[in-house]
Amino acid sequence: MLKLPVPKRETPMAKINLMSKSRYIKRTIALIAPPLVVHSLPATTWFFPFTQRFFPDLMGVTKAGRAILTFDDGPDPVSTPKVLQILKENNVHATFFMLGSMVEAHPNLAHAVAQAGHEIALHGYEHRNHLFRSTRTIIYDLTKAKEIVETATGVKIRYYRPPYGVISIGTLIAARKLDLKIRLWTTWGRDWRASATSESVISDLMRHGIGGSTILLHDSDCTSAPGSTWSTIGGLKKLMDFANLNKIELSPITIDQ
Ligand SMILES: [Zn+2]
Repeated sequence: MLKLPVPKRETPMAKINLMSKSRYIKRTIALIAPPLVVHSLPATTWFFPFTQRFFPDLMGVTKAGRAILTFDDGPDPVSTPKVLQILKENNVHATFFMLGSMVEAHPNLAHAVAQAGHEIALHGYEHRNHLFRSTRTIIYDLTKAKEIVETATGVKIRYYRPPYGVISIGTLIAARKLDLKIRLWTTWGRDWRASATSESVISDLMRHGIGGSTILLHDSDCTSAPGSTWSTIGGLKKLMDFANLNKIELSPITIDQ
């Protein structure tokens, strides 16, 4: 009896192909993911709410009746004096994370911020994402910025906030080498956007309440949409009114200035 060849069934082969393809993809991801995660995980920590629970010091979680007020990217001769004036009128002190390049251009203004009793902190020399910089470059950037800011203000810098809140392995090594504590934020006014208004800034800040938070605003638009600091200034006035009304103490990171 003639035996006809059994036709090959496509399904099992297709399954095998699919399986091997998915196994290949999984294996590739398994090989690539760990170094990527190791490099970028700290950079993404502030995206996730759980980071405030597991990294409260890094994020700047504080007690309920207090909010830490911080400004990035200054000092700026156009907007920083306006911010200083509002703070003075409300008897509030804040922490200014200064850019070395801005302090180099405006050393007297940096000195005036320190003289007004505000805490001076570091935001690096160049405002560039650390994921794309080598450890050596980051160490050079921070060392240069620290020296410029300390010379202009006469203050020893303790805190550092990397540009965009991005922390790479190089950031950690550089901060440790220079004895700087990294401090991010828990709440922002998204005041850097062209579409920001004083109303959007205050409503963004209020989204989760400000008690117990570290607030991020910008006293310069040098890395933001031009003119966006007008929204910051409007939002800052509203923030002062809210804090006064609700008896929330606004302060720098280090209270005993
Ligand atoms: Zn910045």
